[in-house]
Amino acid sequence: MTTSFHPPQRTLMGPGPSDVHPRILEAMGRPTIGHLDPLFVGMMDEMKSLLQYAFRTENELTMPVSAPGSAGMETCFVNLVEPGDKVIVCQNGVFGGRMKENVERCGGTAIMVEDTWGRAVSEGKLEDALKANPDARVVAFVHAETSTGAISDAKTLVEIAHNHDCLTIVDAVTSLGGSEIQVDGWNIDAIYSGTQKCLSCTPGLSPVSFSEAALEKVRSRPTKVQSWFLDLNLVMGYWGSGAKRAYHHTAPINALYGLHEALVMLEDEGLENAWKRHNHHHNALKAGLESMGLNFIVPESERLPQLNAVSIPEGVDDAAVRSTLLTDYNLEIGAGLGPMAGKVWRIGLMGHACRKENVLKCLSALDDVLGRVDAPISRGKALAAAQSTYSD
Ligand code: PLP
Repeated sequence: MTTSFHPPQRTLMGPGPSDVHPRILEAMGRPTIGHLDPLFVGMMDEMKSLLQYAFRTENELTMPVSAPGSAGMETCFVNLVEPGDKVIVCQNGVFGGRMKENVERCGGTAIMVEDTWGRAVSEGKLEDALKANPDARVVAFVHAETSTGAISDAKTLVEIAHNHDCLTIVDAVTSLGGSEIQVDGWNIDAIYSGTQKCLSCTPGLSPVSFSEAALEKVRSRPTKVQSWFLDLNLVMGYWGSGAKRAYHHTAPINALYGLHEALVMLEDEGLENAWKRHNHHHNALKAGLESMGLNFIVPESERLPQLNAVSIPEGVDDAAVRSTLLTDYNLEIGAGLGPMAGKVWRIGLMGHACRKENVLKCLSALDDVLGRVDAPISRGKALAAAQSTYSD
């Protein structure tokens, strides 16, 4: 007879999902009510203003898509890209490649601006691509590249795109709640994120926000959005301002309780404090990793605090180390993705996982496990190095 599934309590320090706060799990276990119940609708209104706070926007259409980050990505592309549209996609890691896929599946042409993986998106290359393609309609880029741990200057990239009359699509799956984002201040047109990273929530929802300029493009497009489920013209009837909350799809009610709780917690902590916390623990982790002799693949000024990618030392078996961390320490760190597979480890410090006890646990576990396989590292220094940043 099959029995219930009881997963162990892991420490999630990979690229996401990250540790979910117990308060959020508790919220998700509350009684399910109807998704058109007046009390639920009241919760949706609060959720919208909490998301506006997290994104730093007054955008009316700010809401969670009922599916993971990839669906937020698709929501932006299917609505803003029409057949024949030219879209400039800046790629500096795996997720820019997915943007290209999206453009092509919408019948658009993707003009790829390739950057070195592990570096920020180059503003100069974007400018050149826009000059060479004056008929481009949209610019898309990833703010926080989870595959490499690089953060790009979203404000400047959006400014350049607007100077060339392009709308902007920004991937903030790994940055929301962990690094500064100013949707209104930076004039971002369409942005999507995920709940499983710096928001400390479970995977499966994708907060998005659209500017008035983006919505104007959606309203005025002559062709129907090819996805019924993600068509913002229809979704607005459920989440839009003054909407009668007519049935569009059955909302993932308990998952939304979780996100509501996560956003209440973010508001309690304060957005700027959350950004600072991610930096603070990143500095400690960095001090520990570097004292062991592990090297970051991203230059310091372009580094994402919540995703720490380091080169795997020579001769070390990537999979064996991660598996020992999991079995002996219940600790998950991330493997390299795409061309980085086998070359890097990605150590996440996201949301609830971004705390001192996790930093110290990870460093001491790595010190032990790498020592056991005679990896070429300096042993016994990491904890003191991290602790010294905490006492500074
Ligand atoms: N974009 C980035 C930068 C990501 O890191 C991820 C997931 O890790 C996604 C998009 C896709 O999100 P999801 O896996 O929730 O569909």
